[in-house]
Amino acid sequence: MISRANTKVKFRLTAGRYYLEAQDEQSEIVENILSRLIGISGWAKTTTCEKTVDTVLACCIEEGKKLKERGMKTFKIEARRTDKSFPLNSYDLCCNAGEAVLNTVNGLKVDIHVPQDVIHIEIREKAYIYSGGKKGLGGLPVGSAGRGLLLLSGGIDSPVAGFLMAARGMNIDAVHFHAYPYTSNEAKQKTVRLAEIVSSYCPGIRLFILNFTQIQVRIKENADSQWLTVLLRMAMMEAAEKAALKIKSKCLITGESLSQVASQTIENLTCTQSRIKLPVLRPLIGMNKESIISEARRIGTYEISILPFFDCCTLFSPNHPVLYGDPEQANALYEKLTLAPLIDEALSNCEIIRL
Ligand code: ATP
Ligand code: MG
Repeated sequence: MISRANTKVKFRLTAGRYYLEAQDEQSEIVENILSRLIGISGWAKTTTCEKTVDTVLACCIEEGKKLKERGMKTFKIEARRTDKSFPLNSYDLCCNAGEAVLNTVNGLKVDIHVPQDVIHIEIREKAYIYSGGKKGLGGLPVGSAGRGLLLLSGGIDSPVAGFLMAARGMNIDAVHFHAYPYTSNEAKQKTVRLAEIVSSYCPGIRLFILNFTQIQVRIKENADSQWLTVLLRMAMMEAAEKAALKIKSKCLITGESLSQVASQTIENLTCTQSRIKLPVLRPLIGMNKESIISEARRIGTYEISILPFFDCCTLFSPNHPVLYGDPEQANALYEKLTLAPLIDEALSNCEIIRL
């Protein structure tokens, strides 16, 4: 996890560009934060220098040495000059800088078509020289697209779903259902760790932890076993919607993917959401498991998701679940269980962790 304490960064915004000024020894922390910042297309670590031809060329030579240290064999120069009082135009600056690097750094060659790296020179209010630009996460800045409540299990899918909605600009909170003492404390802690990772991309997640033991036991003792999972999901949706309305979330978010498991056929998804009014966003609905796993690896949740602790869904899962549930039948069964008071009790006793 990134320690942001004592990291002082000066921040400046100019047309289309942000400048962060930090001590060199803090650049690792700053780059780590930038690599998790949704909404930026890329960044580069830049050297600034005086706007004289000699100092700019000297800086380019230093950049050329860094390229060589990184194992690059070919490069090109790209120059941009917004300050037209600089004595060389962009083309001449490229030629002079290229020559200076070639003459000083052995083993580097120019390739203007497919260079391994590019040394950029920008003559603005100062001169900026950089190479090795990094691609950012892109997407829309978190907070620009409202607030959503993520149903976060301890599995692989839901953290990815949360990340993807954050990358579309959504502010995320999360709700987790556990069935302690049937599920372990470790299972809960695993979800907290997953929420921490998701919050490193969209800070400020509130994780609501609800004990669903009584609800699960009531379903288990009173319903036909083939309906257990669908009825449990309906109860989760109902509880999540109540929580979402309290915190002014505009939608629920799940990690469901069409036909991934029995409870995610289109018929069962219809049953699951049939009692609630808020929209349910399912960013993984059309993704296969391999793509979801590679996304989970990229955002750093996979290794935690695969830790072997039982989730409440696996607890009483039936051997022969209903595959094509009928919403009317599902609702009739659900209503017989009178779960609303138990859901309200779980909500009023919920634990809140701020990340
Ligand atoms: P995941 O989908 O996160 O990998 P999973 O595969 O174990 O977990 P599914 O059975 O696919 O879970 O559940 C579908 C979705 O329902 C999850 O993606 C999640 O949004 C929600 N969900 C399931 N279990 C829980 C839980 N215990 N707490 C909160 N949400 C849950
Ligand atoms: Mg799943």
